[in-house]
Amino acid sequence: MMQTLVGHTSAELTELLTSKGLPGYRGKQLGKGLYTRFLRDFEGFTDLPKALREQLAQEFTLAPCTERSIQSAPDGTEKYLLNLPDDEVIEAVYLPYDERTSVCVSSQVGCPMACSFCATGTEGLARNLTAGEIVDQLLFMQAKHPEQRISHLVLMGMGEPLLNLPNVLKALRLIHDEVGLSYRNITVSTIGVVPAMEKLAAENLPITLAVSLHAPNNTLRSELVPLNEKYPISRLLEACRDYVEATSRRITFEYVLMAGINDTEKEAHELGALLRRQPLCAVNTIPYNTTDVAARYQRPTPEAARLFREIVASYGVNITQRYEKGHRIAAACGQLKRSTLKLGSTMRPLPLLSEVPTEAVPEPGA
Ligand code: SF4
Repeated sequence: MMQTLVGHTSAELTELLTSKGLPGYRGKQLGKGLYTRFLRDFEGFTDLPKALREQLAQEFTLAPCTERSIQSAPDGTEKYLLNLPDDEVIEAVYLPYDERTSVCVSSQVGCPMACSFCATGTEGLARNLTAGEIVDQLLFMQAKHPEQRISHLVLMGMGEPLLNLPNVLKALRLIHDEVGLSYRNITVSTIGVVPAMEKLAAENLPITLAVSLHAPNNTLRSELVPLNEKYPISRLLEACRDYVEATSRRITFEYVLMAGINDTEKEAHELGALLRRQPLCAVNTIPYNTTDVAARYQRPTPEAARLFREIVASYGVNITQRYEKGHRIAAACGQLKRSTLKLGSTMRPLPLLSEVPTEAVPEPGA
């Protein structure tokens, strides 16, 4: 397989060109074309000599993601299925709002976490995405929408980002340093991989960390999120406090409301009591997006969702409801699924809890 240029910093592109006997000083131009002009073929690099473009095309591929299909919703949301060089398929979502344009990108092909309500989690993990594959989802969607500058990025698509921390960190640096997005406009989600949260805190990046809580007690959370057996709520909240202390950044607790499961007045009171002394945090509720894989979970009524928020807020906890887009094209949280996308998949069976990796997950081609 030819080496792909997206995923390298401009400095690395310079080294790469030099190592191939090509003019290294062109690396900066190459980087600009990839990350600020969002070019997707060598022909577009009109500031490079034609002969060099031809040489580059023989040695490298430009970008890893190619479009497989697109679904659009009336609210402007677009869900892309993107092919990767090894025929795996991922999903990425374009979310235009009035005041900003956001993209939601994947960090893994599939996910090993097996959360019971999540479409992605039913199918296990195939592999981690490379840094280039993470960044390229943004570049791809920006190239599709040259008229609208993407201002925000959330890592909430397929996968658990903190299980792929080295590649996620490199992707964040590329997005910040080369593409020019502010770290403050980047959100990384986690289901609560505590050791990786500690490593992320040590990086001290001014990003937003979104922790998927989904339940106020261990019995219920372990049912919804198997990883809770390994890192129960008290341990998770301790890691959140450490994260806040190290970074001075606020944590968002994501709470998917599921009718009759975790949205009753009892859970609302428990959640309020649990978080009232948790520093610098807010709760983001998300009404469950009904999927075909977890029929027992249903969307709450708007009244139940409102009552839930009111009770939690009465404890002095900051709580909002996320403005949803893309529900009708299954592009919202927990609905990104790769099923039936690829024949001959290399998916692994879902791991036993004790096998859930916190660091060592397969790289492409492993
Ligand atoms: S909710 Fe997130 S962590 Fe859980 S299975 Fe789905 S993608 Fe993975």
